[in-house]
Amino acid sequence: MAVERTLSIIKPDAVAKNVIGEIYSRFEKAGLRIVAARMLHLSREQAEGFYAVHRERPFFNDLVAFMTSGPVMVQALEGEDAIAKHREVMGATNPKEAAPGTIRADFASTIDENAVHGSDGPDTAKTEIAFFFREEEICPRTR
Ligand code: UDP
Repeated sequence: MAVERTLSIIKPDAVAKNVIGEIYSRFEKAGLRIVAARMLHLSREQAEGFYAVHRERPFFNDLVAFMTSGPVMVQALEGEDAIAKHREVMGATNPKEAAPGTIRADFASTIDENAVHGSDGPDTAKTEIAFFFREEEICPRTR
Protein backbone atom coordinates (compact mmCIF):
# COMPACT_ATOMS: atom_id res chain seq x y z
CA MET A 1 0.00 0.00 0.00
CA ALA A 2 1.19 3.50 -0.77
CA VAL A 3 2.45 5.98 1.83
CA GLU A 4 0.04 8.91 1.84
CA ARG A 5 -0.43 12.20 3.67
CA THR A 6 -3.71 13.54 4.97
CA LEU A 7 -4.89 16.67 6.76
CA SER A 8 -6.38 16.38 10.22
CA ILE A 9 -8.05 19.04 12.33
CA ILE A 10 -8.94 18.66 15.99
CA LYS A 11 -11.96 20.97 16.12
CA PRO A 12 -12.78 23.58 18.83
CA ASP A 13 -15.09 21.23 20.80
CA ALA A 14 -12.36 18.59 21.25
CA VAL A 15 -9.68 21.21 22.01
CA ALA A 16 -12.03 22.62 24.69
CA LYS A 17 -12.45 19.11 26.14
CA ASN A 18 -8.64 18.92 26.48
CA VAL A 19 -8.33 15.65 24.55
CA ILE A 20 -5.64 16.59 21.98
CA GLY A 21 -3.24 14.05 23.49
CA GLU A 22 -5.84 11.29 23.55
CA ILE A 23 -6.63 11.91 19.89
CA TYR A 24 -2.93 12.00 18.95
CA SER A 25 -2.56 8.68 20.72
CA ARG A 26 -5.28 7.16 18.52
CA PHE A 27 -3.42 8.38 15.41
CA GLU A 28 -0.14 6.89 16.63
CA LYS A 29 -1.75 3.55 17.53
CA ALA A 30 -3.19 3.42 13.98
CA GLY A 31 0.32 3.87 12.52
CA LEU A 32 -0.23 7.49 11.50
CA ARG A 33 2.78 9.78 12.05
CA ILE A 34 2.40 13.51 12.75
CA VAL A 35 4.69 15.24 10.23
CA ALA A 36 3.50 18.84 10.76
CA ALA A 37 1.32 20.49 13.42
CA ARG A 38 0.07 23.92 14.42
CA MET A 39 -2.48 25.32 16.85
CA LEU A 40 -4.40 28.33 15.60
CA HIS A 41 -7.66 30.19 15.97
CA LEU A 42 -9.22 30.25 12.50
CA SER A 43 -10.48 33.57 11.18
CA ARG A 44 -13.88 33.67 9.51
CA GLU A 45 -12.16 34.05 6.14
CA GLN A 46 -9.99 30.98 6.77
CA ALA A 47 -12.96 28.84 7.89
CA GLU A 48 -15.06 29.97 4.91
CA GLY A 49 -12.16 29.25 2.56
CA PHE A 50 -11.42 25.83 4.03
CA TYR A 51 -15.07 24.75 3.84
CA ALA A 52 -15.82 26.53 0.52
CA VAL A 53 -17.21 23.29 -1.01
CA HIS A 54 -20.01 23.42 1.58
CA ARG A 55 -20.89 27.09 0.89
CA GLU A 56 -24.38 26.26 -0.44
CA ARG A 57 -25.24 23.79 2.33
CA PRO A 58 -27.80 24.86 4.98
CA PHE A 59 -25.32 24.25 7.80
CA PHE A 60 -22.53 26.41 6.31
CA ASN A 61 -22.93 29.50 8.54
CA ASP A 62 -23.21 27.41 11.71
CA LEU A 63 -20.18 25.39 10.65
CA VAL A 64 -18.09 28.54 10.15
CA ALA A 65 -19.30 29.94 13.52
CA PHE A 66 -18.36 26.67 15.23
CA MET A 67 -14.94 26.36 13.58
CA THR A 68 -14.07 29.93 14.65
CA SER A 69 -15.42 29.52 18.21
CA GLY A 70 -12.05 28.52 19.67
CA PRO A 71 -8.59 27.24 18.77
CA VAL A 72 -8.08 24.21 16.56
CA MET A 73 -5.11 21.86 16.29
CA VAL A 74 -4.15 21.17 12.68
CA GLN A 75 -1.79 18.39 11.60
CA ALA A 76 -0.55 16.58 8.55
CA LEU A 77 -0.44 12.82 9.09
CA GLU A 78 1.64 10.38 7.11
CA GLY A 79 1.44 6.62 6.81
CA GLU A 80 0.44 3.70 4.61
CA ASP A 81 -3.10 4.21 3.35
CA ALA A 82 -3.24 7.27 5.65
CA ILE A 83 -6.36 8.88 4.18
CA ALA A 84 -8.65 5.86 4.68
CA LYS A 85 -6.98 4.83 7.95
CA HIS A 86 -7.52 8.31 9.38
CA ARG A 87 -11.19 8.32 8.31
CA GLU A 88 -11.55 4.93 9.99
CA VAL A 89 -10.20 6.08 13.37
CA MET A 90 -12.33 9.26 13.12
CA GLY A 91 -15.61 7.37 12.65
CA ALA A 92 -18.76 8.44 10.81
CA THR A 93 -19.61 12.16 10.39
CA ASN A 94 -22.57 11.74 12.75
CA PRO A 95 -21.17 10.58 16.11
CA LYS A 96 -24.43 8.72 16.76
CA GLU A 97 -23.59 6.49 13.79
CA ALA A 98 -19.86 6.24 14.51
CA ALA A 99 -18.49 2.78 15.36
CA PRO A 100 -17.60 2.20 19.02
CA GLY A 101 -14.01 3.09 19.84
CA THR A 102 -13.72 5.72 17.11
CA ILE A 103 -12.76 9.32 17.95
CA ARG A 104 -16.20 10.70 17.09
CA ALA A 105 -17.99 7.99 19.08
CA ASP A 106 -15.84 8.73 22.13
CA PHE A 107 -15.37 12.52 22.01
CA ALA A 108 -18.26 14.02 20.00
CA SER A 109 -21.98 14.17 20.57
CA THR A 110 -23.55 15.91 17.56
CA ILE A 111 -23.05 16.03 13.78
CA ASP A 112 -22.40 19.79 13.99
CA GLU A 113 -19.67 19.54 16.63
CA ASN A 114 -17.97 16.30 15.75
CA ALA A 115 -14.44 16.68 17.17
CA VAL A 116 -12.30 16.07 14.08
CA HIS A 117 -11.86 16.70 10.37
CA GLY A 118 -10.05 14.44 7.92
CA SER A 119 -9.40 14.75 4.19
CA ASP A 120 -11.68 12.51 2.13
CA GLY A 121 -9.39 11.69 -0.81
CA PRO A 122 -5.94 12.25 -2.34
CA ASP A 123 -6.82 15.48 -4.17
CA THR A 124 -8.52 17.00 -1.12
CA ALA A 125 -5.62 15.92 1.10
CA LYS A 126 -3.15 17.75 -1.13
CA THR A 127 -5.20 20.96 -1.24
CA GLU A 128 -6.02 20.87 2.48
CA ILE A 129 -2.41 20.26 3.58
CA ALA A 130 -1.29 23.16 1.35
CA PHE A 131 -4.00 25.34 2.93
CA PHE A 132 -2.14 25.16 6.27
CA PHE A 133 1.45 24.09 5.64
CA ARG A 134 4.25 25.08 3.28
CA GLU A 135 6.17 22.09 1.90
CA GLU A 136 9.25 22.99 4.01
CA GLU A 137 7.15 22.88 7.20
CA ILE A 138 6.46 19.17 6.68
CA CYS A 139 8.95 16.85 8.36
CA PRO A 140 8.83 13.32 6.89
CA ARG A 141 10.30 10.66 9.19
CA THR A 142 13.61 9.49 7.91
CA ARG A 143 14.51 7.15 10.79
N1 UDP B 1 -21.81 19.20 9.10
C1 UDP B 1 -22.78 19.81 9.86
N2 UDP B 1 -24.09 19.41 9.69
C2 UDP B 1 -24.44 18.44 8.82
C3 UDP B 1 -23.44 17.82 8.04
C4 UDP B 1 -22.13 18.23 8.20
O1 UDP B 1 -22.48 20.68 10.66
O2 UDP B 1 -25.64 18.13 8.71
C5 UDP B 1 -20.43 19.64 9.28
C6 UDP B 1 -19.66 18.65 10.17
O3 UDP B 1 -18.79 19.41 11.00
C7 UDP B 1 -18.87 17.86 9.16
C8 UDP B 1 -18.56 18.93 8.11
O4 UDP B 1 -19.73 19.69 8.04
O5 UDP B 1 -17.73 17.29 9.75
C9 UDP B 1 -18.21 18.41 6.73
O6 UDP B 1 -19.21 17.49 6.32
P1 UDP B 1 -18.81 16.16 5.54
O7 UDP B 1 -20.08 15.56 5.05
O8 UDP B 1 -17.73 16.47 4.54
O9 UDP B 1 -18.26 15.19 6.70
P2 UDP B 1 -16.81 14.73 7.16
O10 UDP B 1 -15.94 14.59 5.94
O11 UDP B 1 -16.29 15.79 8.11
O12 UDP B 1 -17.03 13.42 7.88
